[in-house]
Amino acid sequence: SVPLTHTSTVTTSFKTWRVPVGIGKKRMRIVVTGGAGFVGSHLVDKLIKRGDDVIVIDNFFTGRKENVMHHFGNHRFELIRHDVVEPILLEVDQIYHLACPASPVHYKYNPVKTIKTNVMGTLNMLGLAKRIGARFLLTSTSEVYGDPLEHPQKETYWGHVNPIGVRSCYDEGKRTAETLTMDYHRGAGVEVRIARIFNTYGPRMCLDDGRVVSNFVSQAIRRQPMTVYGDGKQTRSFQYVSDLVDGLMALMEGEHIGPFNLGNPGEFTMLELAEVVKEVIDPSATIEFRANTADDPHKRKPDISKAKELLNWEPKVPLREGLPLMVNDFRNRILNEDEGKGN
Ligand code: NAD
Ligand code: UDP
Ligand code: UDP
Repeated sequence: SVPLTHTSTVTTSFKTWRVPVGIGKKRMRIVVTGGAGFVGSHLVDKLIKRGDDVIVIDNFFTGRKENVMHHFGNHRFELIRHDVVEPILLEVDQIYHLACPASPVHYKYNPVKTIKTNVMGTLNMLGLAKRIGARFLLTSTSEVYGDPLEHPQKETYWGHVNPIGVRSCYDEGKRTAETLTMDYHRGAGVEVRIARIFNTYGPRMCLDDGRVVSNFVSQAIRRQPMTVYGDGKQTRSFQYVSDLVDGLMALMEGEHIGPFNLGNPGEFTMLELAEVVKEVIDPSATIEFRANTADDPHKRKPDISKAKELLNWEPKVPLREGLPLMVNDFRNRILNEDEGKGN
């Protein structure tokens, strides 16, 4: 008999078992929650390209059909409008759980909904993973470190988080999601993976989501001043989206649970970021200072030695190379928006 390298899952209402899908084929059924969002849609592109069957679950709170529209008509792709706060029955091999608004403006908009998404949404996806024996990957965040007292941040650092602040719905929500993930692993034997993602940018970010990269790039294209909050000396480390997608897939396919920091260690103050945007987009761009928001972390930079060693992963795209890659997408969408207003 011929050795089969991979199986796919077939289920009746109660039983799940694996059947061969073909010789030498490595094809899986994969759910991406939040797959119509910024990071999710890039992940979907890469999974489809690899030859997997992909089901996207999204409630379109911050995601857009346009981000995945190019897969419509592909029988390997399915889009389900669904809120992860509600249970769902599916049969798959892997679950990438991304559903959750990521920008401060969006997650603060309805904080109770944000925490429900993080807690009930993650619980449902873990319940699903348990029932069907799927591997589950949580996209957690560097925000679990809060306003960190350790710099750069290693995965062993427990964080410095305000439990009652305006960001808590997100950072405490993600901390609870990590706890749930580990408890399903320890208690129910679910195969889990945890990624702690640091600030990521690229094409398909929402134009006006208030994040610093999307703000500066939109502002520079619209020839408006770039808004620097506070004194602009706070730092962040910016990762290009393709590096993140590579890291998420390496984590899912690897043997290690994590948590793993996935981020680019290049650290910039917001003033330095404004300078880079100026350099690569518009040398005549100006800046304008605004009051900062509450509980804004002062510095953030990942220590990625663990991911380098165990996942053999590290980011490849520096900020000066990544920023120009999002400009065309932003320009086109801004142009369409402006034309829309004219109608
Ligand atoms: P995004 O807002 O573009 O994508 C989130 C997606 O989840 C959207 O498509 C949205 O419609 C969907 N969604 C939200 N709530 C939902 C719900 N209740 N049910 C179903 N779908 C829902 O954000 P992103 O930047 O792509 O982030 C993806 C994930 O990565 C998030 O979990 C986020 O916390 C995490 N993350 C992102 C960053 C970053 O810099 N982009 C940093 C750290 C962590
Ligand atoms: N769940 C789901 N899909 C499934 C299995 C479970 O959405 O295929 C949800 C389920 O509705 C519950 C959650 O996941 O709210 C946790 O499920 P689990 O079986 O772990 O816990 P229980 O249902 O026993 O509370
Ligand atoms: N920020 C800024 N101008 C903006 C938007 C954000 O100076 O127009 C700052 C913000 O105060 C924070 C940093 O940029 O210090 C990163 O903010 P973002 O919302 O992008 O991400 P997060 O705070 O979640 O890291």
